[in-house]
Formats: sequence, C-alpha cells, structure tokens
Amino acid sequence: MKTLREVLDESERSKFAVGHFNVSDFVTLKAITESARELSAPVLVGVSESERQFMGVRQIAALVRSVRDEYDLPIFLDADHTHSLLKAVEAAETGFDAVVFDNSQKPFDENVSETKRAVEAVKAINPLIIVEGEIGDIGSGSELHETIPDSSRILTTAEQARQFVAATGVDVLAPAVGNMHGLLRSMARGEVHKHLDIGRISEIKAATGIFLTLHGGSGTDDGDLREAIQVGVNIIHINTELRLAWRRGISAALANQPNEVAPYKILPSALEAVKGVVRGRLELFRSEKSATAGW
Ligand SMILES: [Zn+2]
Repeated sequence: MKTLREVLDESERSKFAVGHFNVSDFVTLKAITESARELSAPVLVGVSESERQFMGVRQIAALVRSVRDEYDLPIFLDADHTHSLLKAVEAAETGFDAVVFDNSQKPFDENVSETKRAVEAVKAINPLIIVEGEIGDIGSGSELHETIPDSSRILTTAEQARQFVAATGVDVLAPAVGNMHGLLRSMARGEVHKHLDIGRISEIKAATGIFLTLHGGSGTDDGDLREAIQVGVNIIHINTELRLAWRRGISAALANQPNEVAPYKILPSALEAVKGVVRGRLELFRSEKSATAGW
C-alpha cells in the first residue's frame, strides 16, 4: 500500500490532483469509496472538527481503514480544519494520515508558532503523517452563502508563504488564491463560477517548493482547476457540492416514495447523486500522465 506522501509525489510528477472529499455520514463515505474504486483513483476523506464530532473520531478512522484493507485502495483520512493542538494530537493518535492545522484566523506570527508546535507534536507521534498549514483568508463554512462571506479576504503572497513554510516545517500549504469555502446561491445554480489567481499559485509554488492544497474547490471554473493542477496544486477540497447533491438526492427520494420508511431504499438516491459529483471531480483532477501513476 502506497503512503500518502508517495501518492502526493506522484501527483507532482504526473500533474494530477488528489480529490479531497468531506464526509459526515456513511452515504457520502460510500459514494466516495465506490467512485474511487471504479476509477482506481487515490482519494482523501476529510472530516472537520464538527464532522468528526458527529461521526466519532475512532469510528470514521475504523470505517476508512476497513475500506482500505478490503479493497487495497489508496484511501487516506484527513483531520480537516483542526484548530487546536489537542484535536491534532487526538487525530494523530487515532491513526489519521493527515492533519490540516488551521490557525489562519490568528495573526501571522501566532499562526507560525502554533503551526510549528502542531507539526512537532504530530510528527513525534508518527513522522509519516502529512501536516498542512494555512495562511490567508478563504472564509469558513461549506454551505450556501447569501453574499461573499468577507469582502476583505486577504490573498496569500509568495513571500508570506515562503516565510511560513520555512518557519513551520509543514509538508503542505493551503494558500488563499481566489478560492473560498461554501457557495453563493448563483454558484450553486451554476450561473457563476469561482476563479483562481493562477499566477499567484505559480509564484507560491516557486517560493515554497512544497505540496499545495486548494480549499473551497466547489463551484470553481473547470478550466481554472485544470490550470491550477498544472502549476502545482496537489490536493483539491470539495465539500459543498457533495452536501448539495446529498440533499437533492434525499429530497427526490422522499418526494418519489412518500410511503417508504426503509433507509436502505431511500438513501441510494443520495448515494447516486453524491457519486455523480465525486466521479465528475475525480475525472477532472486526472491528467494524461495519471495512467502512468496507476489511475
Ligand atoms: Zn477547507
């Protein structure tokens, strides 16, 4: 079984991105793992602090491990948006493959010192765990927003990124490059797309030389995502699109089967809706060279 670092190294060489999909229920997890199996694609399953609290830290770890063991697929588990050292340590001790340590809301110097501490603590538990740090503001909440959450969003500069990576020792950096968590209603309807600052991504990649993650990938222009992968984005997070598909699937099933009460007869509609999104995204994140990387 490949390690997450090996998969990320391949993504660097072959110019593909690893899809990162958040879960807070079994239907979404099943949709992700079935899609990954069908396409032989590596995937990251993400759980934020709130999603972990709902699923259970040990329970989600056991579920992902059981899928990995049964199908021998590179499916990895990420402690997404972890705000405290305590939660980072808990995830590392539970066997997570990656931790996103997010203190980006704090002043830069404090973010640097707290992230450095988290990197040291997590690596002391298992040096193979991939630690990601965040700088800049990409808003919060993978949900529908009426307006862009904060009009004063700050984009990451290459110099800030260089300083942050050198001082913290993170394996992966999540910059703010025009991306945003959640979707505006116009984006959910597909009328408007998010656009990325590709030049800025190139500069940040050149300044840091490490793996880059794009958070808030839902609703982003397909062409921009392809270009971002070409200039060095290794991981792309998709959450809101999955949540919308899940809700659409559940609503349709309840409307079409007004007398049905068996969950396993209602939930396949949500499963198929989420799978449609996951498959589409994985196909977009692939590259021509992916075949040589095994998918
Ligand atoms: Zn995120």
